[in-house]
Amino acid sequence: MKLCELGEFGLIERIRKQVGPGRGVVRGIGDDAAQLEIEPGFHLLTSMDLLIETSHFDFAWTSPEDLGYKSVAVNLSDIAAMGGEPRYLYLGLACPGTTELDQIEAFMAGALTLSKAHGVTLVGGDTCRSPGPWMISVTVEGVVPIGRTIGRGGARPGDLILVSGCLGDSALVLSLLRQGKRVEEELAQRHHRPQARVALGRALGHSGCVTAMIDVSDGIVADLGHILRASGVGGTLEVAHLPLSRDFQGALCEKPELIELALIGGEDYELLLTTDKRHLSAVKAIGERLGVPLTVIGSIRAGQPVVSLREASGQEQVCVKQGFDHFSCPGQRSTP
Ligand code: ADP
Ligand code: MG
Repeated sequence: MKLCELGEFGLIERIRKQVGPGRGVVRGIGDDAAQLEIEPGFHLLTSMDLLIETSHFDFAWTSPEDLGYKSVAVNLSDIAAMGGEPRYLYLGLACPGTTELDQIEAFMAGALTLSKAHGVTLVGGDTCRSPGPWMISVTVEGVVPIGRTIGRGGARPGDLILVSGCLGDSALVLSLLRQGKRVEEELAQRHHRPQARVALGRALGHSGCVTAMIDVSDGIVADLGHILRASGVGGTLEVAHLPLSRDFQGALCEKPELIELALIGGEDYELLLTTDKRHLSAVKAIGERLGVPLTVIGSIRAGQPVVSLREASGQEQVCVKQGFDHFSCPGQRSTP
């Protein structure tokens, strides 16, 4: 069946039936607005992301189910980066009338699998016909105990810079897919099903040990740049210390220039954070407890908010390369 046969309200009803009750949900899908109850002592966090077919994803190598999963994952990652607990989701969906219902069902299965795994409830959205590409707008709301939010603006000279997990895999996968190469399943998941570091973000927020945090969506150079500008400080990244997966290291042996993918590739959805040296062992212990490695990759200094790269040789220079910017970079993101 095609969407134009089912109709807007038929589709909304199918979506509604797949959603169960949720914590704090007084009214979910079906009224003019969602009505939610937030406990006293918490602030509400809200974040939104847009995904446009061909700008952010391509059905040539992305399944609708992976797309649904990723659309939610990138939003959960924003709440994680603030130290919050995600709770509610809103889905704006625009697809052509000729779209097969099966595709939407697969998309919803991916989106709802991940939401449910995180205790997040879909409480609203909007559904429209698109004249061409799919457009997906996901909004997530989360809660954070008052005083425990981690913003981008708290990095101080002398702080260490850490990152969770590994960098560059997602961009590596995308570049291989674009070249028409086959990518082994586990590596491909790093691009299609990024793991939002929700438990880690919350634990770091709760610890009170982190001065600034952001999730790596545009590449580590660009995202560190956001922290530096918000904090009014400079920062140095140690290129030799960037955490890289086995697959990435293998690719790097053949093509050393691929290191760029770890620096500016983007879509890693790891957490990039700063902490005072005194708190390093406490912060590392949180990563160990949650099974997510945290690696020191640089330090913050006083001065202009620019990112410097220090090579293994000790040579240091200001990084002129930037990450992805929708208005200054042509084509799809993560272009190597
Ligand atoms: P309105 O005309 O007030 O915008 P709609 O008819 O668009 O209302 O939506 C009816 C209900 O369905 C609302 O609760 C809305 O939040 C929800 N809804 C619409 N589209 C979606 C969607 N894609 N996913 C989840 N909920 C949706
Ligand atoms: Mg509407």
